[in-house]
Amino acid sequence: MIVVLLGPPGAGKGTQGERLAARLGIPKIATGDVLRAAVRDGTEQGLAAKAFMDRGDLVPDSVILGIMKEVLASPSAAKGAILDGVVRTVPQAEGLCMMLAELGRMVDKFLLFELDEDELVQRLSGRTVCDSCQTPYRGLEPGTTCEKCGGKLVRRKDDDPESIRNRLEVYRAQTEPVIEWTKEKKMSLIEIDASGELDEITDRAMKALEP
Ligand code: AMP
Repeated sequence: MIVVLLGPPGAGKGTQGERLAARLGIPKIATGDVLRAAVRDGTEQGLAAKAFMDRGDLVPDSVILGIMKEVLASPSAAKGAILDGVVRTVPQAEGLCMMLAELGRMVDKFLLFELDEDELVQRLSGRTVCDSCQTPYRGLEPGTTCEKCGGKLVRRKDDDPESIRNRLEVYRAQTEPVIEWTKEKKMSLIEIDASGELDEITDRAMKALEP
């Protein structure tokens, strides 16, 4: 099963993607995590992506499609994957669908996580993430130990107010058109109310994935 998580930054795609992946027994793949690891490792890809990421701008489609090609060819994605934070532009959506078609596969469902803008900003400015395994946390201060891997919690550089504002604008201008595109292509897109308790949201998303 290939599931694409759509929705603005802060809607909980990462957290819910992790939960859905665990329940379905398939990996969650987040291009943001892949890129942050590349930045940390100082690879060529990371160096090229860093400035875009710090500003909250999108990394070029060619870079993202290169990552997706590698990811889809890896044995861990053979049974399926939850794709978090990709696709973010119409060319990415077209590219992903073409790559999948070449492998005789397709996107089974797009889940669109929806949340009020005030709550998005509040969530993003209050979150910390593990600098090692990238798990996001709400309400824990930087420096706290990650309960999952023992890493250290930090604030993401792009969670400062200016980058948050830019990321929301970028979402509206470049990612929202993907929603229209899925409708034009008659693909299965289900809207999920991303407010409330984590378990409630996971249940809504699991229900949306039922055949
Ligand atoms: P995320 O962790 O999904 O919020 O992504 C963090 C940053 O990585 C984004 O603000 C972009 O700069 C970059 N990024 C991640 N995924 C993509 C993508 N699919 N297309 C373009 N840029 C991306």
